[in-house]
Amino acid sequence: MRIRAADVIVTSPDRNFVTLKLTTEDGVTGLGDATLNGRELSVASYLSDHVAPLLIDRDAGRIEDTWQFLYRSAYWRRGPVTMAAIAAVDVALWDIKAKMAGMPLYQLFGGASRNGIQAYGHASGRTTEELFDSIRAHREQGYTAMRIQTAVPGLKAVYGVASQPSVDGKRYDYEPAQRQAFPPEEDWDTRAYLRHLPTVFESVRNEFGPELPLLHDGHHRMTPIQAAKLGKALEPYDLFWLEDCTPAENQAALRLVRQHTTTPLAIGEIFNTVWDYQTLIQEQLIDYVRSAVTHTGGITAMRKILDFAAQYQIKSGIHGPTDISPVGMAAALHLDLAIHNFGIQEYMRHGTATNEVFQQTFTFQNGYLHPGEQPGIGVTLDEEAAARHPYAPAYLPFNRLADGTIHDW
Ligand SMILES: [Mg+2]
Repeated sequence: MRIRAADVIVTSPDRNFVTLKLTTEDGVTGLGDATLNGRELSVASYLSDHVAPLLIDRDAGRIEDTWQFLYRSAYWRRGPVTMAAIAAVDVALWDIKAKMAGMPLYQLFGGASRNGIQAYGHASGRTTEELFDSIRAHREQGYTAMRIQTAVPGLKAVYGVASQPSVDGKRYDYEPAQRQAFPPEEDWDTRAYLRHLPTVFESVRNEFGPELPLLHDGHHRMTPIQAAKLGKALEPYDLFWLEDCTPAENQAALRLVRQHTTTPLAIGEIFNTVWDYQTLIQEQLIDYVRSAVTHTGGITAMRKILDFAAQYQIKSGIHGPTDISPVGMAAALHLDLAIHNFGIQEYMRHGTATNEVFQQTFTFQNGYLHPGEQPGIGVTLDEEAAARHPYAPAYLPFNRLADGTIHDW
């Protein structure tokens, strides 16, 4: 079954998405997500200028071979642009293979290992009251686990806090990327954050009790010793995980954190290959793998990372904010359902316009996701609807400290 067409579709319903659509000589189509938040057009160019011409007339069934060809023939390996492009091809080929088999994709991975996929949502607030309201609202939507992010006294804007006014006065309820020509500036003070956060978790546990799984994202802002201090301070509140506590480039930094705290650690949303995990997994420095299928070379690469992690009792926590398109989310759900070492799945719900462009079979009921039973990954793209939402430049924010120094955002 030869590939006859490879089309790159850029659309911006609620936010920007890049999608690859492959079509075989028999008219079978497959979709892959190539969205890289804030750098979308670079992946679109990588695909349309350098990858799509190479795919024409290739055998659509040779997924592993195509992955190795794209990874090794580029010579310049790794990196988020390259690996997002490879991921899109990989997921589109898995979609085609599962459609040809007449099965939902998870069946090709050995079938379901569980009945549903536990998801966590993003509860946040500028004040304790706002945060409690957000937790209750998420419970009403069915969520059984929640990430907790709050404002920090003295800081104007903090990552992950919904209802936070942005620089232009609008609210970014979930989406930190702003549709503007320059990245918005936020401020940061690690000492203020370290003083404040344990008090937040204390109040949440006092209000909602010990059972609710609670997560927190440090967003790469701490030094190793600061992260160790925070992990230790949060131990009484029994976190499900502390995510991205230190900058992710330095795997060895987690050694120091691990020596000092039993708070479970998750990292990897900005990783793009198994090599980024080599030390972390072999030395058991983390508990959860946070990569996105979309940014890590697709399903073929993610399965290898998760199988490697499984040997060390490290579980999945696949990245799933709204900058992962419904195509990328569906791909993750098929993996989540099939693998044995599933941990939890991040899930923010997409907006109405996005759901009109991408029709999905996956469901979210009583806190559990399921990819559905349609052959393939279960997502179709309405290209006419997509064309109604042209690309609009958007950037993630950046941080400055009080003295003007740029800090990790
Ligand atoms: Mg994160």
